[in-house]
Amino acid sequence: MILTLDNQTQVDFTKSEMIPAIIQDARSGVILMQGFMNSEALKVTLESNKVTFYSRSKSRLWTKGESSQNYLNVVSVHTDCDNDSILVLANPEGPTCHLGTQSCFGDDAKPSLSFLAQLEDVIVARKNDDPAKSYTASLFAEDLSRSCQKVGEEGVEVALAAMKHDNDELTNESADLIYHLTVLLQRQGLALEDVVKCLIGRHK
Ligand code: AMP
Ligand code: ZN
Ligand code: ZN
Ligand code: ZN
Repeated sequence: MILTLDNQTQVDFTKSEMIPAIIQDARSGVILMQGFMNSEALKVTLESNKVTFYSRSKSRLWTKGESSQNYLNVVSVHTDCDNDSILVLANPEGPTCHLGTQSCFGDDAKPSLSFLAQLEDVIVARKNDDPAKSYTASLFAEDLSRSCQKVGEEGVEVALAAMKHDNDELTNESADLIYHLTVLLQRQGLALEDVVKCLIGRHK
């Protein structure tokens, strides 16, 4: 059987009733899990916007998160070159693996730049923590001007390190700048993704 995804894409279930579906975190790019979908599972996924597989062990449709509430909320669905496997970009609610890790492939299987997303998650989680126990929490507890000052300072330190051709220092100061910039954006209700969207917009 062939299932039409959007008005053009036909998903090919003729070679096999079940096709592999790779689920990728829409924000960080981390591969979260892989499962199988039959045409029914894909239909339910598209209708409910919650990733739904055909579970070979349960022999039934399985909406990931149905008991744990750790749903995978669909952002977009893509087929490969010959339409016999799918890639789902999704926003996970909680850890995807039943073993408690973010990804079923473990905590080490992460693309390097995805750490920026992880760092941002940690910063968000620290917002209301005890300022005595967390430097990030102490920044949130201080006036906005403190964060503004830090970003300014670190930006100048980045420039000075580059002028000295000291790449160790440039790396360190850039790390400081990215951290403080992420904190400042959060304080203003913005995320790194908003900045990335701006960059993508300029690229067009
Ligand atoms: P859930 O769909 O998250 O409510 O979990 C229901 C059941 O599905 C769990 O008790 C596990 O047996 C199984 N399960 C959940 N998540 C995964 C996963 N990522 N990979 C394989 N099995 C899972
Ligand atoms: Zn293929
Ligand atoms: Zn797992
Ligand atoms: Zn610095």
